Amino acid sequence: MSAVIDHIVHPMQRAAVRPLVEVVNAGRNFDVSPPWLNRVIQRQPRVVLRAVNDVSFTIARGETLGLVGESGCGKSTIARLLVGLYAPTSGNILFDGVPVSQFAKSRAMRRRAQMIFQDPYASLNPRWRVGRIIAEPLKLHGAAVVSASGTNADREAASAAASDASIDARVDALLVQVGLGPADKSKYPHQFSGGQRQRISIARALATQPEFLVCDEPTSALDVSVQAQVLNLMKTLQRELGLTYLFISHNLAVVRYIADRVGVMYLGRLVELAPKPALFANPLHPYTRMLLEAIPDLEKTGTARIAVAGEVPNPLAPPPGCAFHPRCPYANERCKVERPEMKPHGVALVACHGIEEGRIGPVAETH
Ligand code: SF4
Repeated sequence: MSAVIDHIVHPMQRAAVRPLVEVVNAGRNFDVSPPWLNRVIQRQPRVVLRAVNDVSFTIARGETLGLVGESGCGKSTIARLLVGLYAPTSGNILFDGVPVSQFAKSRAMRRRAQMIFQDPYASLNPRWRVGRIIAEPLKLHGAAVVSASGTNADREAASAAASDASIDARVDALLVQVGLGPADKSKYPHQFSGGQRQRISIARALATQPEFLVCDEPTSALDVSVQAQVLNLMKTLQRELGLTYLFISHNLAVVRYIADRVGVMYLGRLVELAPKPALFANPLHPYTRMLLEAIPDLEKTGTARIAVAGEVPNPLAPPPGCAFHPRCPYANERCKVERPEMKPHGVALVACHGIEEGRIGPVAETH
């Protein structure tokens, strides 16, 4: 396992700097059984959904890791695991060396990791003015007047002492930082466009001076032109504040723009993890290739393209062996019975028997 962990560490962090986020063999199950009485009467067993299964990766400080995959592949469950909204069923998730389970116990820890949600319409309280929405975490964490280096006790005391004026000034600064203005704090969320609402969500996330932002499809509800503006804002904020991102999206073009490394998920497992240039130039896993083939060919290169074939299997009864085998044009008998593990291949990690056995060549040869 340590060889694999060494391999998935981004070059930026090999210089003996501990990754900010370490996910080691993490799994998360959900009990989706019918009610107990129904099960007893109908003699049904418990039904367990393995939403995330044996996933490992790290994220270096200042890095953006993109996570892609079709709906239901476990991306959003990973997002919630990383900010402590769910506890892992198995494995470990460390934030700066501390288990994320500590988020529930320590406000000081919770302050350091925040989340931006997909739907800016649903994630903002429609009855609150924008000023109150952004001030809420400031009041809770006392971050308006305390530096990030203060102790927990300092922060608790400062929180109580934080004056309305200092909070007001911080809200103004946050609104300016995300491209809005101080006058916007007296408005309600419905008075803004989708892009502006996502900027408000970002300002709220930044209020506690976090180091790590988990962005769960933050631009997928926005128009394409607005998406670009929000992505540029996120890049600028990352540069200025030294933020670390986990960026989840089903849109490969968006991930290509913002990520340093990309992880590809299929049915709760990571199937490929590679630096962005390598993943887009030479995708290894057949599923990654399928996803890239699905991007519309606007440049009309004339390259033969393979449509994304088949449906994602029922996650309650995933296929044995490689879960991708019913859709994979390279599947053989081994693929149907033996689950592939993540193994190094060049600069990437990939879970595929075909790659391991040398049956699948570089992308150019397969076209
Ligand atoms: Fe295809 Fe086999 Fe690789 Fe799975 S392990 S992606 S079925 S070649």
